[in-house]
Amino acid sequence: MTDRSADSTTLLSRLRTDGIEHFWVIYHDYGGRPQAKTLPPESFDSAANSGVVFAMANLNMAADDHQSLGATLLADAGDFLALPDPRSYAVLPRYPRTARCHAWMRATDGSVWDGCPRTRLDAAIADLRDLGYSVQAALEPEFYLLTPNERGDYEPINTTRMFSQAGLAAAHEFVDRVIDELRAMGVTVAQLGKEYGPGQYEMSVRHADPIRAVDDYFSLKEAVRDVAREQGYVATFMPKPYAHWSGNSLHVHLSLWDAAGERDVTPSDQDETSLSQEGSWFLGGIMAHLDALTGLGSPTVNSYKRLLPGSWAPANTYWGYGNRSGVVRIPGVGGRRHLEVRSPDNSAQPYLLLAGLLAAGADGIRRRIEPPPPFQGDIGHLTPEEIDRYGIGELPRSLPQALAALQADEVVAGAVGETALKHFLTVKRHELATYDIHVHPWERETYLEII
Ligand code: GLU
Ligand code: MG
Repeated sequence: MTDRSADSTTLLSRLRTDGIEHFWVIYHDYGGRPQAKTLPPESFDSAANSGVVFAMANLNMAADDHQSLGATLLADAGDFLALPDPRSYAVLPRYPRTARCHAWMRATDGSVWDGCPRTRLDAAIADLRDLGYSVQAALEPEFYLLTPNERGDYEPINTTRMFSQAGLAAAHEFVDRVIDELRAMGVTVAQLGKEYGPGQYEMSVRHADPIRAVDDYFSLKEAVRDVAREQGYVATFMPKPYAHWSGNSLHVHLSLWDAAGERDVTPSDQDETSLSQEGSWFLGGIMAHLDALTGLGSPTVNSYKRLLPGSWAPANTYWGYGNRSGVVRIPGVGGRRHLEVRSPDNSAQPYLLLAGLLAAGADGIRRRIEPPPPFQGDIGHLTPEEIDRYGIGELPRSLPQALAALQADEVVAGAVGETALKHFLTVKRHELATYDIHVHPWERETYLEII
């Protein structure tokens, strides 16, 4: 169902042969939210060849749908064109005669616009190719399935346990539907399992080139949301929906290949566990740029309620073999060896996150950055003295810290690019400012009768 060839003629003929009458052209804003217009057949030709008009000002809208404080893309900022990328073509079987493409954001004269997150990832891929490498990626999200209750709140659809058969049985209609839906969109689900939290599940798809990996991730996220709604559920990918239950991660799996994408060069050929020299440098680069990468991978106030020691969500800057408490894990042995970056969550703008990860890894290769030695414990179970002894650092503990680190990191900020970085920071700092002036239920519970 998915055609990866890349020209508008192929796209137009797919739309025709699939009998499509509603063509959704989608871009993802700096918060990673899918924004779309639908086109009837009369507009297919111009959409495929010239793109679809959207308002620039929307790119400075934050998650609360308000114009961000300090916005520079205002009412007079004009338009951009969302030019469908034919490689991302997929039918949406759950909607009649409907297909979608993800889009490149272009200036109104059709020229490349460097504020486009998808374009920035493409540039990071090209940069790595110039160095003689390519990357295969897979994004593995976790999410909760909830049902709305009479109190205007939500509760998990079940209380089944981690990886339990009961967890699959309890949600089997959802599970079957979502896997079938994705298959019909050309996305092969590798596995789906019940996660630790009540009503929490996780899914993974087969690895692919980074742009395709993001396309597949968005297909997955929207299919999960839509099928959940069909079943009377609400799906949330929010990083930490409940303080006392496990958070929702977005583990990013990366392996380094030769430029032609024919040979996986991540594992060492000397043994079954270690990384090759260039695989180690790639890891070294990611470890060296962790603070800035946290600004991309954990870009909401809620993200920092997830990144806590002893929770399998990393809070510290170590990596290890098979170690689920570290920020990077090398899962598996033999041919399965690759990097699993564990700190990101689903509030990320995944094009920008992957652009940052690729650029950090490329910097590691260019500067031959050796990673620190692996650490095999769980820092959540160590005393402060032990942590000091091992010399293990902390990931940024808050969003302001992480955004400042992102801004200060020439390599990661460079990959995001001046324009995208400016607007990303505007939107994120707006969310921070509005969060800061809110009074949260915890504050009333704790102080109301006390102070
Ligand atoms: N739920 C954990 C997190 O928020 C990850 C659990 C796992 O290892 O899959 O990071
Ligand atoms: Mg998991």
